[in-house]
Amino acid sequence: MTLLDGKKTSATLKEEITQEVLQLTQNGNRKPHLAALIVGDNPASKTYVASKDRACGQVGFHSTIIALEESISEQDLIREIHRLNDQKDIDGFIVQLPLPPHIDEQKVLLEIDPDKDVDGFHPMNFGKMALDLPSFLPATPYGILELLKRYNIQTEGKNTVVIGRSHIVGRPMSILMSRKSNPGNATVTLTHRHTKNLKEITQKADLIIAAIGSPGFLTADMVKEGAVIIDVGINRVIDKSAKRGYVLKGDVDFETVKEKASFITPVPGGVGPMTVTMLLKNTLLAYKNHRQKAADSL
Ligand code: NAD
Repeated sequence: MTLLDGKKTSATLKEEITQEVLQLTQNGNRKPHLAALIVGDNPASKTYVASKDRACGQVGFHSTIIALEESISEQDLIREIHRLNDQKDIDGFIVQLPLPPHIDEQKVLLEIDPDKDVDGFHPMNFGKMALDLPSFLPATPYGILELLKRYNIQTEGKNTVVIGRSHIVGRPMSILMSRKSNPGNATVTLTHRHTKNLKEITQKADLIIAAIGSPGFLTADMVKEGAVIIDVGINRVIDKSAKRGYVLKGDVDFETVKEKASFITPVPGGVGPMTVTMLLKNTLLAYKNHRQKAADSL
């Protein structure tokens, strides 16, 4: 069994980005700039935004966090998005999800300029992704593709089962694995909570991507010998003996499944670190696109 080390891979990627930024700034260009909008006090959201901010610093990006009151109206939030759309020195920005219940997430995401949508959630980018056109890819699926690529895992013609159909992980993952590309060209089954006989389906899979949000959901009896296992889950499981009072567990029962897997991602240290790094990759791409556009308009 080979561990798919997301921590190490993302460190390599960050080093590559750092070198590119260094070259750009040494040539007199400004740094790439990522902004994050966060609404309210959700502790997990605050942790995610803080880690994105930290990652920007590591690769030499400029980073701005805009913290807004939980009570902000949908209209005022949209105004804030329009302000970021217009701000020339911001290459990309994200709206940290989830938003408070009085705000319509889809309506808000539609207001983001697709050229600055580094999360890849805007229908324009999502549609382009489905049509094999260049676009910003959602960071978590993009990170999984990069892990598969860097570990040289062949996916062509492979039976791939995605568990979970969320708009940010499962659904885009299923699209990306079926695209005419490498990684891709797989035979994909997208499963979800209404799927019947899930075990029969996963037992036939060469590659399983679990994005459910249920600790230890995928057990060894559901997995074929030699399968590749990607665990997206990040679940806080209460553990009084742990320093923080909880431990992080994936959607895969790692200890038993690793005995059958050919490749497997750990939690933590697998998909998680890749996600933040791919957001940086998208921001660098947005920066380059903006520069190209500016050059074209001269
Ligand atoms: P979600 O809650 O939006 O979606 C969960 C999906 O799982 C749904 O489509 C649902 O149909 C499916 N599901 C639930 N129970 C099922 C069952 N019994 N059988 C089959 N399918 C079932 O979740 P999400 O946002 O995709 O996140 C999933 C997990 O991944 C969570 O633990 C989340 O914290 C984690 N996550 C990690 C990263 C990362 O960077 N590693 C990024 C995003 C999400």
